[in-house]
Amino acid sequence: MRPPRARDDLRDAWTFPFPGLSIARSPPEERPTFWTRALGDPPDVYGERLRARDDSFWRAIDPFRSKLGAALCKGLRVLPIPPRARVLYLGGATGTTASHVADLVGRKGAVYVVEKSPRSFQRLLGVARRWPNLYPLLADAREPRSYLPWVPPADTLYMDIAQPEQIDLALTHAKLYLRPGGGLLLALKMPSLRRGRPGEDLLGPAVKELSRAFELTRPIPLEPFHRGHHFLTGVYRGRE
Ligand code: SAM
Repeated sequence: MRPPRARDDLRDAWTFPFPGLSIARSPPEERPTFWTRALGDPPDVYGERLRARDDSFWRAIDPFRSKLGAALCKGLRVLPIPPRARVLYLGGATGTTASHVADLVGRKGAVYVVEKSPRSFQRLLGVARRWPNLYPLLADAREPRSYLPWVPPADTLYMDIAQPEQIDLALTHAKLYLRPGGGLLLALKMPSLRRGRPGEDLLGPAVKELSRAFELTRPIPLEPFHRGHHFLTGVYRGRE
C-alpha cells in the first residue's frame, strides 16, 4: 500500500522517546498515543489507527488491546526491543502486540511467536504472511523444549500467557533461550497466579521469585486498560 504524504501538523507534534527505536509518541500529554513504523503491507492488523510519515505508515498501539501499549501509556521507560533483536514471544494470540514488536526489531530482527490456540494461530499465520520477520509456532509454552530446534538464542523474552505458572515459565525460558544481559517484558495477570486468600499480596512474591534471575524495574499497574495486570521489565543476569 502506498503511504500518503505526511501532514505537517503530525510531523511537528511527534517525539521519539526511545532513541534508536522506531517508536513515536504523539500528544495529548495526559493520554499519549504510541506508534510503530509498519513493516507489514497492508499495514493494519486489528483495525488500529494509521498515519503516514516519512514515506511509511505508522500504526497506533491501542492500549486497550495491547499490554505493551498500556505500559507505554502508563510510563514504561525501558524498552528492550531494539532493531535487529531476536525476540521470543510467548502468547502471541492473533498477533496484535507481536506485530508491533516485529515493527520494532525491523527487517534484520526476528520475532518467534508461540501460541497454543489453533484458532488464534490461524490469524497469526495471516499476519506472518505480511511481516517478513515474524515466525509463528503452534506450541505450548509449558513444553519449552518442544521448539528448541526452531528458536535461536534470544535477546529478548516477551511473555503474555496468563498461566498460573507464569513465573516458573519465565525462569525456564530465560535459562533455555535468553542470553545473559537479555531483556524481559512480562505482562503478569494476577488472577491467573495461584489462588490466594482475599487481599493476599501475590505481586510481591512473584517479583521476589523473578529477582533471582532478573534485574527488575518497578512493576507498572495496567489499570484502567487491563484489570488485574502488571507489566514488568528486567535484564537477565544469566544462569544461576
Ligand atoms: N500478547 C497478545 C497481544 O497482546 O496481542 C495477547 C495474549 S492473550 C492475553 C494470551 C494468549 O496466550 C492466548 O492467545 C492464549 O491462547 C495464549 N496461551 C495461554 N497459555 C499458553 C501456553 N501455555 N502456551 C502458548 N500460548 C498460550
